[in-house]
Amino acid sequence: MKLAISACLLGERIRFDGGHKHDHFITDELGAYAEFVPFCPEDIAFGTPRPSVRLVNQAGDISVHSNKTGANLTESLHIASESELSKLEMHHLCGIIFKSKSPSCGMKSAKLYLENGMVESKEDGVFARMCRERYPLLPMEEEGRLQDAWLRENFVMQIFAYDAFERFKASHPTLGDLVRFHTINKFMLQSKDEALYRELGNVVANREEKSLTTLLALYEMGFKTAISRKSSIKRTRNVLEHLVGFFKKELSKSEKETLHTQISDYANKIIPLIVPVSTIHLYANKYNTIYLLDQTFLNPYPKNLSLRSHIDGGK
Ligand code: SF4
Repeated sequence: MKLAISACLLGERIRFDGGHKHDHFITDELGAYAEFVPFCPEDIAFGTPRPSVRLVNQAGDISVHSNKTGANLTESLHIASESELSKLEMHHLCGIIFKSKSPSCGMKSAKLYLENGMVESKEDGVFARMCRERYPLLPMEEEGRLQDAWLRENFVMQIFAYDAFERFKASHPTLGDLVRFHTINKFMLQSKDEALYRELGNVVANREEKSLTTLLALYEMGFKTAISRKSSIKRTRNVLEHLVGFFKKELSKSEKETLHTQISDYANKIIPLIVPVSTIHLYANKYNTIYLLDQTFLNPYPKNLSLRSHIDGGK
């Protein structure tokens, strides 16, 4: 899996002051599963070290100015950003991680100044905006937001699901393969967006007998949109309760009660999601419930990332 990433987050000494913003979750944990494609539009445009820049609202147009001299550097940064974007286009990316607050890389976190020097709002940096326009369905996050356990879990789930779809698409799937792909993602999609899950079910049912190419394109759009939605405790709880229903004949009354208590403790943020999920997994193995064992909801990404072990992982 390839992720494009602000080079300073990888520890490259490429910031305006020659420093870096090494993020160890990205390099040490995600790095075990991802190959990184670094970018730094400011280094391309101005070299390192360089005077810092800011975004300025000039009569409705956002321009880029040197903090040191006030010079308008918009064109240079745009040219360098286009060049970095062309570089990214040579890779099959599954996501982008940006450095927060940067006038180039920030996602709705770069300060936009008025000409009088007051801060007006927070906006996308120049390069982040170009990436959003070029890749509207590609998972994107900032390293700052990834400190939040809930956002981190959602983003990681999204990039692995995105990667799974890209590999599925590259396998020249048949309609039967599409039905199976949709089936194994059922509960993961329901934890994201129940309505979109149902819409995707209609796509797969293909009552209008569309061509496979059209179906795959429709499915891709819906699937990538659904995985971009954030899961919620409420939706996840519904999914967990649904999964318990698979064992209604096998489990004793007290085993069911224990599982329901775990789900309710998860919903009340007393225990993390991994507890009820592990119990369900255990029963799925014990009773060889293949339908559940195949579900990506139970294994959305490598368990070593242990993102479901945090109480704060649900909202
Ligand atoms: S935030 Fe972006 S432009 Fe700034 S140093 Fe990092 S990669 Fe380069």
